[in-house]
Amino acid sequence: MNMDLRERLDRGDILLSDGAIGTLLQQHGLEPGQAPEAFNLSRPELLSQVAATSVEAGSDLVHTNSFGGSPLKLAVHGLEDQAGEINRTAATAAVRGVAGRALVSGSIGPCGKVLLPYGEADPDEVRAGFLLQARALLEGGADLLTIETMSDLAEAVLAVQGARRADPGVPILVTMTFESTPGGWFTIMGNDIPTCAATLLESGADVLGSNCGQGSAGMLEVARAFAATTDRPLMIQANAGLPELDEGRACYPESPADMAAWVPKLVANGVRILGGCCGTTTQHIRAFRRVLDQNRDSA
Ligand SMILES: [Zn+2]
Repeated sequence: MNMDLRERLDRGDILLSDGAIGTLLQQHGLEPGQAPEAFNLSRPELLSQVAATSVEAGSDLVHTNSFGGSPLKLAVHGLEDQAGEINRTAATAAVRGVAGRALVSGSIGPCGKVLLPYGEADPDEVRAGFLLQARALLEGGADLLTIETMSDLAEAVLAVQGARRADPGVPILVTMTFESTPGGWFTIMGNDIPTCAATLLESGADVLGSNCGQGSAGMLEVARAFAATTDRPLMIQANAGLPELDEGRACYPESPADMAAWVPKLVANGVRILGGCCGTTTQHIRAFRRVLDQNRDSA
């Protein structure tokens, strides 16, 4: 089961990732505005339990609770001095939860600051932060790294560079967030898909794709745009639709069955790793698993 990711992709496997970890942690007492990563130090056993739940729902690949674990992002919560420990524990807790039944992917999200010259973040400092984070995730036992929800290609490249420096051989997955415009798909920083694909591959990413920002229909379009520019395996993690406000709470309209119906189309367009982003639950992952198993059996 715990084969190397590259080996599994090479032999044509389609890997199921997991759903939104934040939603699960909120059900366990995470307050709005609180850093989800603070749980890594206070309640690692909960993270192991979340990882085990994903594996039992059918995930082949489970993310660590370290999306906001770069030192710059943790600084917002006064936790930057604990960045190493927070990321290491995110990985050790997930490794314990999956117990060899799935791959553990170290999650790396944006640093939360805008890079020079548009903002104030120094690229060297941002890269060094990603390096520290990647190193700690790998020390904790992560099998691969996923750089996700990136809107600035320049920041994504710094993250890939930091991750490569931490381990020249580790598989690196990069998923960016795109918006639909009359001129095509762009990140909010104005990066188009062909430029993202070429630049990320050149900087050493193994798998490319998109997460967040779109429901299933939009993500299929994004996958098609990636497939038109590269034959690398793609990774897609859609939101459960676009959020609708219900009494001040974000509600996501796509049911597990709604989302699962898109799985064969995503796979037909080069998606080899798929999971869910905002609003997706264990039930979504279970529904994806059923579709993937049916597809494989009828192949
Ligand atoms: Zn999301």
